[in-house]
Amino acid sequence: MYLSKLKIMGFKSFATKTQMDFNPGMSCIIGPNGSGKSNIVDAIRWVLGEQRTTALRSDKMENVIFNGTRQRKPTGMAEVSMTIDNTNNILKTEYRQVVITRRLYKSGESQYLLNNTPVRLKDIIDILMDSGLGANSYSIIELKMVESILSENRAERRLLFEEAAGVVKYKIRRKSALRKLEATRTDLTRLEDIIGEIQKTVNSLSRQVGKARRYLAYTEELKNTDVELSRFRYNRLLEEIRPLKLQLEEVSKVKEASHSQITIDEALLEDYKRELIRREQELQELNIKLQEIDTRIAELNKDQAVSETKTEEMGKNRQRFLQDISDLKQKIKIMLENLEEFKQEYDALSEQKEAVESRYNKVEAERRSELEKLQDEKKEIDRLNQTFRNQLNALSSQKEEFRQKKYQLEFNSEQLKSL
Ligand code: ATP
Repeated sequence: MYLSKLKIMGFKSFATKTQMDFNPGMSCIIGPNGSGKSNIVDAIRWVLGEQRTTALRSDKMENVIFNGTRQRKPTGMAEVSMTIDNTNNILKTEYRQVVITRRLYKSGESQYLLNNTPVRLKDIIDILMDSGLGANSYSIIELKMVESILSENRAERRLLFEEAAGVVKYKIRRKSALRKLEATRTDLTRLEDIIGEIQKTVNSLSRQVGKARRYLAYTEELKNTDVELSRFRYNRLLEEIRPLKLQLEEVSKVKEASHSQITIDEALLEDYKRELIRREQELQELNIKLQEIDTRIAELNKDQAVSETKTEEMGKNRQRFLQDISDLKQKIKIMLENLEEFKQEYDALSEQKEAVESRYNKVEAERRSELEKLQDEKKEIDRLNQTFRNQLNALSSQKEEFRQKKYQLEFNSEQLKSL
């Protein structure tokens, strides 16, 4: 088993994707101070799941992401992939090439992949356990660790030796078993508490059971006593009932006799009721009629009052009309007298009218003949007007012709002069 490939991208000083291939045997990386040699070791430690920022020589975990230079922008993610050749099956997995990948985003989100499949950190730790590989194992020895091995600190040295001897797995299991034991102990204590509680409930329940039993015995006794008492009461009631039965028989006979009388009386009562209903209906009808008559009387009274008022009015009107008639008679008499005078006047006027009419007819005939004459003259004037207008038009066109000829003459004489 050996580290065969390492791909770094966006981790510390490795801004772009950088791939390193390793062969079996020893590989050496050389470079000037600050060129990023230790960053490669950090990348290996990081991809193996290192959580301590101090071990990665950083303040915060996000600081392992490439944070840019003057020429290059910072990246948003750091990714390291480490390929382990597992042809001799040291790692407990079916893969021949085990690719462990870790990603960290600026947002703080992180991811672990095993041969490109997302896994938990625990799965990676489990695979690497006791292989000698691991974030804290002796397989990555930096300068500081060399110093600690050489120092007198026993605990640090012991950790390295234990890892090498493969006892870490058992120590972790022991720790986990002890934790489980402690949890079981706590559970036991809780169980004892619960048992104590339940015991209290059991005691209380057994007291209640005693009470219930006593209650059942008393109930049984009460039931028996009740039965005895009921029997005694029943016998006594039988004794009391016997004379009452005899009385009842007699009363029944009386009741039978009364019953037939009641039936007859009831039939009579029915007849009375029917008669009563009929009378009530009659009374109701009479009441309605009476109401109608009352209403009619009231209306007639009202009509009578109106008639009286009207009669009085009519008497007054009659007097007035009689007076008017006598006045009119007088007027007619006067008018008849006037009529005679008018007739005479009319006859005289009729004669005058006939004379005026004959004069009018004569004048009218004269007017008509004058009018006809005037219309003829008007027609003649219109005709003369039209002739005058035609001659005027001819004159203006002759004038225009003359003006043009005059202009032509002036032009010709100008030409002649210049020649
Ligand atoms: P030396 O031999 O002195 O120990 P080196 O070759 O091991 O040096 P490293 O310590 O690995 O070098 O690298 C240090 C360089 O990495 C420094 O130049 C530092 O600026 C750079 N560096 C560390 N972290 C980041 C980071 N997050 N982003 C960019 N560069 C970083």
